Amino acid sequence: MSVSPAFARDIDGKAIAAQVLSEVKDEVGALARQQIHPALAVLLIGDDAASQVYVRNKLLRAEEVGIHSLEYRLPANTTQAHVLTLIAQLNADPAVNGILVQLPLPSQIQEHIVIQAIDPIKDVDGFHRQNVGGLVQGATVLTPCTPSGCMRLLYDTCGDLSGLHAVVIGRSNIVGKPMATLLLQANCSVSVVHSRSVDAAALCRMADIVVVAVGRPQMIDASWLKAGAVVIDVGINRIETQTGSRLVGDVDYVSARTVASAITPVPGGVGPMTIAYLLKNTVIATRLQLEESRTRAPEPQFA
Ligand code: NDP
Repeated sequence: MSVSPAFARDIDGKAIAAQVLSEVKDEVGALARQQIHPALAVLLIGDDAASQVYVRNKLLRAEEVGIHSLEYRLPANTTQAHVLTLIAQLNADPAVNGILVQLPLPSQIQEHIVIQAIDPIKDVDGFHRQNVGGLVQGATVLTPCTPSGCMRLLYDTCGDLSGLHAVVIGRSNIVGKPMATLLLQANCSVSVVHSRSVDAAALCRMADIVVVAVGRPQMIDASWLKAGAVVIDVGINRIETQTGSRLVGDVDYVSARTVASAITPVPGGVGPMTIAYLLKNTVIATRLQLEESRTRAPEPQFA
């Protein structure tokens, strides 16, 4: 008698992102009733094809939830000085609540200098060192969008995460490290696996939760997973096929879903969450700026 394998259920990132966007829309509506209109500035430098698609999607979603967006498209030969001048203007403009610089940047512009130039209270990507430090200390800060989105998917799927063993594969500043920090704050036991890890698959097989952000198409298959593990696949990779090309994750979805209990598909898993959390961060930034302006000491008045 053959027993058909139990397949993991899909974690529907599109549906959960739609819920987040609806919450954001409600918050934007509440702010509008106080005559406050959140605005997001997006800088796109150069002509990277994937970046153009990401920016277009971000601007479309912003419009849908009522966030005003300002788009700055700059040529690939833009100087770093020009970008820094523009960021200084946006920092000083009270009508701009969030600033996003789409990465990667052309080689003449240093990423860390540009990120550090953004006012931390407008840093909706959560990459500024002040926000990174705040995140590690558990302070209220702007948190990177992709890991925030992954946390929402995990809460939706697992409920309370306390005591679960999570393995994060990848240790980048934008995904792996903040993801590990957020999981720790959710009371998981956290292991981080990277290119120098010894027997990464064995570590991974101990995990209740596996978050994969490696940038290698379909690297993680069923042999890396414990039965019933929840798998979050952050990877977005375009691979060539006989009929053209298609997007795949860092996880071999077909293989992994024979062992996992729940898994994010690619596309339609983490991607929509990243955009939803960018817009949520824009609202959080707006509220933080409002609070800051209310608590700021009044200027001395001279007759
Ligand atoms: P990075 O290239 O910055 O980091 C990749 C990480 O993977 C590094 O820490 C690296 O280790 C680790 N790694 C590489 N090879 C191995 C290996 N064989 N075994 C274990 N670890 C390995 O990538 P990002 O974090 O920026 O992105 C990861 C993926 O997520 C990409 O596919 C990207 O496109 C996608 N992405 C998706 C987003 C979304 O919205 N869905 C948003 C952001 C990224 P080491 O540090 O030792 O080199």
